[in-house]
This record gives sequence, C-alpha cells and structure tokens, in this order.
Amino acid sequence: MKTLRLILATFALHAVSFAADAPITLVIHGGAGVARADLSAEKEAECRKVLEEALQGGHKILREGGTSLDAVQAAIIILEDSPLFNAGRGSALTSAGTVEMDVSIMDGQKHTAGAAACVTGVRNPVRLARLIMERTPHVLLVGQGAETFAKECKLPFEPMEYFITPEQQKRLRKVQKAQASATPITDFTLRTGTVGAVALDKAGHLAAGTSTGGLTNKRPGRAGDSPLIGAGTYAEDGACAVSCTGHGESFIRSVVAYDVAAHMKYAKSDVATAARRVIHEVLPKHEGKGGLIALDSSGNISTPFNTPGMFHAWIKADGTIHVAIFEE
Ligand code: ASP
Repeated sequence: MKTLRLILATFALHAVSFAADAPITLVIHGGAGVARADLSAEKEAECRKVLEEALQGGHKILREGGTSLDAVQAAIIILEDSPLFNAGRGSALTSAGTVEMDVSIMDGQKHTAGAAACVTGVRNPVRLARLIMERTPHVLLVGQGAETFAKECKLPFEPMEYFITPEQQKRLRKVQKAQASATPITDFTLRTGTVGAVALDKAGHLAAGTSTGGLTNKRPGRAGDSPLIGAGTYAEDGACAVSCTGHGESFIRSVVAYDVAAHMKYAKSDVATAARRVIHEVLPKHEGKGGLIALDSSGNISTPFNTPGMFHAWIKADGTIHVAIFEE
C-alpha cells in the first residue's frame, strides 16, 4: 500500500511538472532594412549561419531548463561577437568614425531591466545591461559611468579597432557622401543589423534584449530606442517580450515595444494583431521604418516589419530552426 502511494505521488509530481512546462521558444533578429538587391548569396549564407548559431546557443539553455534571460543573453553574445551584425564587433559608426553602443535587457517575470547607452570598449554590451539590472538599483547607465561600472564588474574590454570593420567604414562614407550631396537619405541608413532576442523558458517566463551600434553617421552622444525600455525592448510575463529594430527616433516617439504589450493588455489583442498594428498602422503615421520580434507567454510569435527585409529567426521546442529575411 505504501509503495503504491509512493508510485502515485511520484506520478502526480511528474504530471504537475510536465503540465507546468511552457513551450520553450527563442526568436532573434539581426536588424531591419536589408534589401534583396544588396544581399549577395555569400553574405546571406554567412548571416544565416551566425543566426543559426545564436539560436542553437540560446535553445540549449532553454532545453536544459535554463532561464529565458540566460537564453536571450547567450544568443545576443553570439551576434555581438560576429562582425556581420551591428552590435559589439561590427557596430555602425558615428559621424566621428567611432563606435558607441546601446543595449538593454528585461526580465518579464520580475519586471526588472538594465540598459546602457553610448558605451565604448565593452566587448559584450548585453552582459553590462544584465549586470546593471542585477547589481545596481538603476535601469540605465550612460557613457563613462557605464564603462566604469563595467570595469568594476571586470567585464572584458577591447580596443576601438576591434569594433570597427571595413564594411562599416564603407557604409559611413556612403552615408556621409549622400548627406553632403543633399541626396535624400534613403533607407540604406537603416540597413544596420541591430540584434535582439526574445525567449520563453520552461517555467513560462519571458525575457527580451536588444543590442546595437545605432544608426550610421549618428552624432556622438546620440542614444536610440535600443537602450530605452518600452521603446526598443520590453518584457512582461502574461503579455509579451519584444525587441525592436529600425529608425530609433520614431520607435522612441511611438514607444513601440510597450505599445505592443499595451494592445495585448488593454485591447485584448493577440500578439500577432498587436505587433502588426504597431508596425503597419501606428509607426507609418509618423514615417517610422523598422520591425520587431514579439513572443507571448504561450509561445506564439510575430515578426512584422515595414522595411524591405529584416533578418529574423526562431526555434521552438522541437528544435527546428527557421530563418527568414524577406516576406515569404
Ligand atoms: N534602432 C536602432 C537605433 O536607432 C537601429 C537599428 O535598429 O538598426 O539606434
């Protein structure tokens, strides 16, 4: 009888833990604005490879029962380390030819967040955002203050040359030439490959993060939407996790990431309706260009963009990787 009770209790425990498992999901983006004509087959293959690596890195953590925060951070670190995307190494350049990075991360369970703006030298800005969230009473540190904190935390630093790639130098020259000749700035200024990730872990918790060098030829000291919670990044359990990419000034004015959550919370929209409305109805009213990735607590995802393309990719519990760039 005692053995039977033990078996039943064990079974009940397993049933509870099984029932409690949320459908692990990880969605990442590598920036909006990419155009088919500018993307060679070779470059596309390289980008896809890095996106897949980032998904695999984050998914391993989720599969093994790790947190959505750890998965978001792991995926973003892989993208920051790649020179192909505009975050960490390979960041877009300021008008002075330097790199200043913006970053944020948010924990949907605890409703805590960390962010840094106009940071130089920190190899992986997303680690800094995480530490600001966990070790300070603040949400956002900027410039020198953020760097001093990173040094206190013993985060790895790199010299400026590490971050600057020939491709970004070429892009800067192109943008500066276009501006000098009064050619209207077309959306090539947006083809910047900002990176972001949103994740849902087994325990049902959401997290989001975004990391970028910002817009090419930005004024030194300019911060975009990426380090601003509610504009470029947002996560709230029960609602959604969002990471944005695009023309930061428009995303700030329209408080894009939080607006997706607000549509879900107050208008009772599903995540796809909410995300599409913000990107295709709200943003265009103010000439905002870009896209976002959004994920709800049930594992539903949405990846709308109003630019020609947006690098985005996702992986669910079954481990199948999906990479997409243009509207299929
Ligand atoms: N949103 C970023 C910024 O304005 C740029 C991007 O997403 O590509 O800094």
